[in-house]
Amino acid sequence: MIRHILVLGGGSAGLISAISLKIRLPALRISLLRSPSIGIIGVGEGTTPNFPAHLFDYLGIRKKSFFEKVRPTWKLGIRFLWGERGRFDYSFDQQCDATAPGLARPNGYLCDEEFESASLPAALMRQDRVFRKRADGLPDIQGWHAFHMENELLVTTLEEVAREVGVEIIEGEMREARRSANGDVSSLLLEGGRVIGGDFFIDASGFRSELIGRVLEEPFVDFGASLFCDRALAAGWERQEGETILPYTTAEAMDAGWAWQIEHERHVNRGYVFSSSEMSDDQACAEFLRKNPRIKREPRLVKFRSGYHRRQWVGNVVAIGNSGGFVEPLEATALMIVCGNVQMLIEMLTRSEGKPGPAMRDLFNRMTERSWLDIRDFLALHYKLNTAGQTSFWRKCREETDVSRIQDLLDFYRENGPTGFCRYFIDGAQKNDFGLEGYLVMLIGNRTPYRNAGKISLQEMQLWQHHRSAWRGEASRGMTVNEALEYVHHPNWVWDTD
Ligand SMILES: Cc1cc2nc3c(=O)[nH]c(=O)nc-3n(C[C@H](O)[C@H](O)[C@H](O)COP(=O)(O)OP(=O)(O)OC[C@H]3O[C@@H](n4cnc5c(N)ncnc54)[C@H](O)[C@@H]3O)c2cc1C
Repeated sequence: MIRHILVLGGGSAGLISAISLKIRLPALRISLLRSPSIGIIGVGEGTTPNFPAHLFDYLGIRKKSFFEKVRPTWKLGIRFLWGERGRFDYSFDQQCDATAPGLARPNGYLCDEEFESASLPAALMRQDRVFRKRADGLPDIQGWHAFHMENELLVTTLEEVAREVGVEIIEGEMREARRSANGDVSSLLLEGGRVIGGDFFIDASGFRSELIGRVLEEPFVDFGASLFCDRALAAGWERQEGETILPYTTAEAMDAGWAWQIEHERHVNRGYVFSSSEMSDDQACAEFLRKNPRIKREPRLVKFRSGYHRRQWVGNVVAIGNSGGFVEPLEATALMIVCGNVQMLIEMLTRSEGKPGPAMRDLFNRMTERSWLDIRDFLALHYKLNTAGQTSFWRKCREETDVSRIQDLLDFYRENGPTGFCRYFIDGAQKNDFGLEGYLVMLIGNRTPYRNAGKISLQEMQLWQHHRSAWRGEASRGMTVNEALEYVHHPNWVWDTD
């Protein structure tokens, strides 16, 4: 019977795990061990829409205080400066896998020539606006958004929340784990000789992967055949007064990878994710600085390895966050997986009344493995489909990226185009995190050709243009992030659901 869970790690993964467990299973004792001398990774600033949903809907954290302390900005999706179109927007709603009123086929078929403003959120993105204005002039804050947040503010705020809800925070550095006869971890030996125990452990120790990797030696599945980037340079610049805060992350193709741009209230965070087998750190830094003259400080180099530990739950240890795996920063999926896996664990602990058996554990491992592979394939597709890049990195991506697990989907698409039938190749018993929409945006955005295009009548095209111009018109009356932030930071602002 699990009564006391010890979380190893006080980065965003450890804190989200501890807070979620304590709020949803209040009878449990939750302790969190973290080492101030090791610190946190300090990157991870973009999210997907499940992150705000996890905080506010699943955990009931108050929006007012979260906005005051973390000062997030809204992200409607990702702008790709990528592929033959040069630019396309991936919004967190349905552009391609939807059929606008009166059309005889999904919108995706009508996006061949011009893939832009194919929904209201996409039209808002296109015009650097974030929300529609309500009739009373206030921002109409809809659920199809994620956040940009500064990592340090997020972690400091999560730590406050953890203390408030009753998580016991212990400072110290784990040196060794003690194991019982059945191989389970029984306690952690800290530097200085202190021993702390628990009946169940969350390994949220980041890339050090202290328990699942180092102690339990769970094999690492490397994604090197599908994804070639393994380093990032991170830097940024301060905003000028009045500069527009963009409502999206930008992902721009570079010579040996891609660069992110993440929008904060007062500064912009820029990073270059690259392949060290294609470019040295110095070469990458030179390209990064040349293309981003606003960067004035030395970029920070972060190394990572793309892949996951085969089982995320071994004995009485569950890995959450970078300790269990990391794919790469494209699409900002890490916190999405943290929230999803924590929810699944809580559900399993609840269903098993605190006594999860091996079959429950195996199911967790099967489901998490499926998620890692889905993310790998989805991200690999981004690289594989980009026919515009002419450097050796991009040639290698086109020729060598392994997408064999979704080859059926690609073959079907190349024959039939963006029909809803494509869904059958990505959703099995478990729903794909990106949905068909994500794959179609990549295929259409990168102008992947297909044979059975069908004939689109003039009338159908006119109707489609009519929908798009309505979305554009509505977007043009919308609000920028700067304007909407002014409302929500006003002392009189009241959230509808707080
Ligand atoms: C370049 C890059 C960009 C990224 N961008 C994004 C993004 O945009 N969006 C996103 O969701 N994710 C992103 N990520 C992933 C991001 O790092 C994670 O989402 C997030 O920061 C969670 O990290 P973590 O808590 O797992 O690890 P960490 O922040 O590294 O925390 C590990 C914790 O474990 C503790 N610890 C470790 N060893 C010990 C020990 N022996 N004893 C005691 N304590 C210990 C540390 O002190 C620390 O508190 C990115 C990652 C990289 C590399």
